[in-house]
Amino acid sequence: MKSFNPSSPMHKFETVVLKPGKESSLLRFHPWVFSGAVKYLPATVREGEPVRVVSAANDFLGLGHYQVGSIAVRIFSFKEQVTDREFWKHKISNALEVREASGFCFGDSHNICRLIHGEGDGLPGLIVDYYNGVAVMQAHSAGMYLIRQELAAALREVLGSRLTAVYDKSEKTVPFKANLSPVDGYLYGSAILPHMADEYGLHFNIDWISGQKTGFFIDQRENRRLLERYSRGRNVLNMFCYSGGFSAYALRGGAALVHSVDSSAKAVELTLANMELNFQDDSRHKAFSADAFEFLRDAEPDYDLIILDPPAFAKHQDALPQALKAYKRINARAMQIIRPGGILFTFSCSQSVPRDKFREAVFSAAAISGRSVRILHQLTQPADHPVSIYHPEGEYLKGLVLFVE
Ligand code: SAH
Repeated sequence: MKSFNPSSPMHKFETVVLKPGKESSLLRFHPWVFSGAVKYLPATVREGEPVRVVSAANDFLGLGHYQVGSIAVRIFSFKEQVTDREFWKHKISNALEVREASGFCFGDSHNICRLIHGEGDGLPGLIVDYYNGVAVMQAHSAGMYLIRQELAAALREVLGSRLTAVYDKSEKTVPFKANLSPVDGYLYGSAILPHMADEYGLHFNIDWISGQKTGFFIDQRENRRLLERYSRGRNVLNMFCYSGGFSAYALRGGAALVHSVDSSAKAVELTLANMELNFQDDSRHKAFSADAFEFLRDAEPDYDLIILDPPAFAKHQDALPQALKAYKRINARAMQIIRPGGILFTFSCSQSVPRDKFREAVFSAAAISGRSVRILHQLTQPADHPVSIYHPEGEYLKGLVLFVE
């Protein structure tokens, strides 16, 4: 077998040839090559290896990582160029520039953000979240996993003293069929857990080792901040609370009471610890470990601000009808029990649920409840989760703020 060093700039890319007419999406900078579009794949190409993609007429289209599966190549460059250390460093500093433009990342009371958001940053298959000095990396493709050391080195160069550690948490995200036997661990430095980081002046304990995803749901930051404005004097129910992000903003915003609910006992523990960190012995807050559907079924109609932020109900396109039913059911129940004049923050983070379908599900829920419902805000993911205009699939977070009469 030929030797393959993914980080060698001298590595000569094998060429993948597309079927006639299959080049159009790449010419419009969409970064995915579906396996059905491939006419010729060299037999020697290995999973995760960088390849050159050309049209049937042999015109260069892009450079990307090859992977077994329905997306055969994820393009990281639409120019033919050397992909050495400088190349990756440039990509990362470009992503950082975007974060610096929005001011979301580095501040005295604010040091949590997403540094790299896959396709949105021209780095398909790579997620990097930043928590007060620590970068937590998740490779979703074999290609990004194979160059993790190089990416960590580039992060160090670009972030300098703002970076104290890089943790790789790809064990559960790298395609298991690639047989890479990933093991989570620090690629650079280390940190003591839980690690405290700040979001708009609120403190959160972040535990990337035992927590969900990279340890925190950064994508709801601006929506949590909006919720703070609606919280004064209200009885708040934070369903699917995870580590209590929305609850903390509600308490700071002057809520009369806040109930946090999650089916995971570990999430409830995290929520309690985070509320204690910010609001010692605050009797306005209570947390419950319970299934959301059961909790809502039995809940008293005492809440006038409800947050529904469920996990991705549809992980694949096939699950869409079931997911839409679940969104409808849970929203209908929330609208049935919310007090008159109540505010509902409702979300879907499923990439395969289109915005209009989610809105339709919420519309059906409103009709079932028979209440008069007005849309106050239409929400999405924040600027540190950018969407490439050529890759609309990257827009995954959808939210509505509703006034329920
Ligand atoms: N709103 C949170 C993120 C929510 S993530 C934040 O701002 O940080 C989704 C959460 O839903 C996870 O914590 C998961 O444990 C929880 N969950 C999944 N299924 C559930 C169910 N059936 N009932 C209650 N919680 C559930």
